[in-house]
Amino acid sequence: MKDGKLIIFSAPSGAGKTTIVHHLLGQIPNLEFSISATTRAPRGDEEDGKDYYFISLAEFTHRIAKKQFVEFEEVYTGTFYGTLRAEIERIWAKGKTVIFDIDVEGGLHLKRKYDGQALAIFVQPPSLEVLKERLTGRGTDSPEKLLERFGKAEKELNYAPQFDIILKNYDLETACAEAKKLVTDFIAG
Ligand code: ADP
Ligand code: 5GP
Repeated sequence: MKDGKLIIFSAPSGAGKTTIVHHLLGQIPNLEFSISATTRAPRGDEEDGKDYYFISLAEFTHRIAKKQFVEFEEVYTGTFYGTLRAEIERIWAKGKTVIFDIDVEGGLHLKRKYDGQALAIFVQPPSLEVLKERLTGRGTDSPEKLLERFGKAEKELNYAPQFDIILKNYDLETACAEAKKLVTDFIAG
């Protein structure tokens, strides 16, 4: 199988990467979302096999032992997320480009691993304060979970310069238009 390309969207939680990635998936037919495995429970209307592969900690651990992940992380205490090698290969086998919505360390990990094939984009919120407002406004996390995400976000904002591109997500429409141009040019190049 011929290796394809990868597009990585990373940012602290609440910056808007999921929103932008969903927009791109609706606009660019040659993209397919890399569905990560996670040990967290589904949220809202999330579906298994669409948003994530929701698996138990025992199964996640088993898959680590079998070396099935290209990267994985305990993103929040007790909650694991990872990218399965088979998922990337499944998408490349269709001749498509893989798009990721992944935390900052995982994104840098993939960028290093797939050097030369990957475009790594950091989604930058206007400020930490706005990020907190967005995350709170999303209404999906408990007060404890929100605090954990805020704490991690502050550190993650410092990783921005290590990415290929910093995409400002101030006005959503502008950010989506810029993202579309970046991704289209990268796929064509
Ligand atoms: P992430 O995937 O990075 O955690 P989301 O895409 O879930 O972030 O966005 C977090 C919240 O912020 C969502 O409620 C989303 O609708 C909102 N949002 C995203 N981008 C913007 C923006 N540019 N302006 C205002 N709200 C935004
Ligand atoms: P959420 O629980 O909000 O869906 O995701 C929490 C964080 O985990 C987000 O920053 C998300 O991008 C990240 N994440 C999702 N999938 C993966 C993955 O496969 N690997 C890593 N390292 N992080 C992931």
